[in-house]
Amino acid sequence: MKRGDSRFSPGSSVSSLQILIRMESFEQEFGDRLDALKAEGLYRELRKVESPQSPLIQVGGRAIVNFSSNDYLGLADHPNVKQAAMDAVATYGAGSGSARLICGNLAPHVELEEALAEFKSTEAALTFSSGYAAAVGTISALAGSGDVVVIDKLSHASLVDGARLSGAKLRVFAHNDLDSLEKILQWADRRKTEGKTSARSRTLIVTESVFSMDGDIAPLLNIAELKEKYGAWLMVDEAHATGLFGEHRRGLIEEFNLSGRVEVQMGTLGKALGSSGGYICGSRALVDYLINKARSYVFSTAPVPAVSGAATAAIGIVKSEQGYALCQRLWNCVDLIKNTLIRMGRELPPVRSAIIPLILGDERRAQELSARLLEAGVLIPAIRYPTVARGAARLRVTASAAHNADHLESLFTAFRELNSA
Ligand code: PMP
Repeated sequence: MKRGDSRFSPGSSVSSLQILIRMESFEQEFGDRLDALKAEGLYRELRKVESPQSPLIQVGGRAIVNFSSNDYLGLADHPNVKQAAMDAVATYGAGSGSARLICGNLAPHVELEEALAEFKSTEAALTFSSGYAAAVGTISALAGSGDVVVIDKLSHASLVDGARLSGAKLRVFAHNDLDSLEKILQWADRRKTEGKTSARSRTLIVTESVFSMDGDIAPLLNIAELKEKYGAWLMVDEAHATGLFGEHRRGLIEEFNLSGRVEVQMGTLGKALGSSGGYICGSRALVDYLINKARSYVFSTAPVPAVSGAATAAIGIVKSEQGYALCQRLWNCVDLIKNTLIRMGRELPPVRSAIIPLILGDERRAQELSARLLEAGVLIPAIRYPTVARGAARLRVTASAAHNADHLESLFTAFRELNSA
């Protein structure tokens, strides 16, 4: 449409009535789509929380015991973490002003990346405004058309979206299934030897270490062995392991003693580290490359100083004796919850993580049980498609070091009432 086109002129052929009808039909279309979601038990709604993130939150004027947060160590409301956020605001202001590469590379960002690299024992680290941005930006920078990204079936949407965006061939291996992974690696190898793709074609294996909706753990040692056998690269998302596993609480990569064998270590700052954002840890060359090529990094305003200041303080706590003690509290809490739920007849995964899924299957049933728990004063959301597969709906219970005996008692009472109803 060009300027001067009659459709721009006051005498436009589209009448005000027609514009109104079209606007209404837009509303109608989305009303219908939302009704379809409701019929399938897949409709989602926001709830306003009127208190800090903690085990006891205020929702609609009611105190609700919270078993749904990823704030595993209770650092989101920790006085030192909050003070660090306030100090960063006092010194560096509320906003970052621009992308990191323009004039937004503020001291709190640099200090956080130094602290992260030191914590994870890698050469360098890079932070992003979210874990989603870290995943999408990194995978699409490392892989491109002609390459192959091999991803665990239960990997987080951000990893899948990064792989799709990269333009590489996306292959999915069955969850934690090494045979399935190896078959794909063999296929990728054959493509090269048969000249179907360039000899420079790369294969990137992507997995989480602790799976976000199942709370189970990837066989990282075997995956690292396979990636070495086939000359692939490995990217591990430690979103739900950072701060919780390993001698220094670096994550499962540390626990499995794989630090020098994983090319790309990813994680988030919004879970055990109590703040928000995502990170990549690895070699200096990897980080310098991402600074140049990760589009979600290059073309996005830098995180605000407060979140970086808070995350740096949280890393300090995680590394300290206090971090060790918080982890012990968390694991005690996890064990208590799991033992009690097993005694009530629930089936739970044998591995220990802060995520305890109660698989129900049917979406509407999960929604109904979640609503009944909320009535009893306990928040455990129903996790449904598309977060998990259709027919694999569940209640996802998450534990925190901040949960005390009263919070646990509320949880168990609510479950007892549910069982007897
Ligand atoms: N990876 C995993 C495994 C996650 O669970 C999440 C968030 N739930 C992300 C990445 C994305 O992180 P963020 O919320 O910081 O965008």
